[in-house]
Amino acid sequence: MERTFVILKPDCMAQRNVGDIISRFEANDFEIVAAKMAQLSKDLLKTHYAHLTHQPFYPALEEFMTERPVLLLVLEAENAIVRARRLIGPTNPEHAAKNTVRGAFGASTLRNVIHASDSRESAKLEISRFFAETEIFHIEKEEVPAFV
Ligand code: UDP
Ligand code: MG
Repeated sequence: MERTFVILKPDCMAQRNVGDIISRFEANDFEIVAAKMAQLSKDLLKTHYAHLTHQPFYPALEEFMTERPVLLLVLEAENAIVRARRLIGPTNPEHAAKNTVRGAFGASTLRNVIHASDSRESAKLEISRFFAETEIFHIEKEEVPAFV
């Protein structure tokens, strides 16, 4: 099993798409192993998006990501990192298939609904940056009991 780190971004929170997106992951056999809301700080974002701080769009990205609280998730599944990136679609929603999260809900390359780790190294770093080990749980799957 593999873990990936996801942020449901401020646009997703305001547009009430949280449930739809979590359903997509659950329907694809991802387990939620950690979840919390957080108001991200500019300092934390500078670390999270360290590879982008020199980009001309960085001030807009910082402003967007601090607009309101976000939902932080750790998701576990076979091949979670690559499969989550496939489910969310490419960075620019205009290039995303309509059945992906960004294709369905994204407004622009900036306001694109969701973050998911892009490699094993970044997943490991991002999970430890946002969650303590004591905040990560595993819950054994049970089928819905038949109603009698
Ligand atoms: N972003 C942007 N303009 C760009 C590229 C990225 O506003 O030209 C924003 C966008 O919100 C994106 C985030 O910066 O999700 C991180 O960029 P990255 O290249 O890591 O894309 P991702 O991994 O999120 O697809
Ligand atoms: Mg990225």
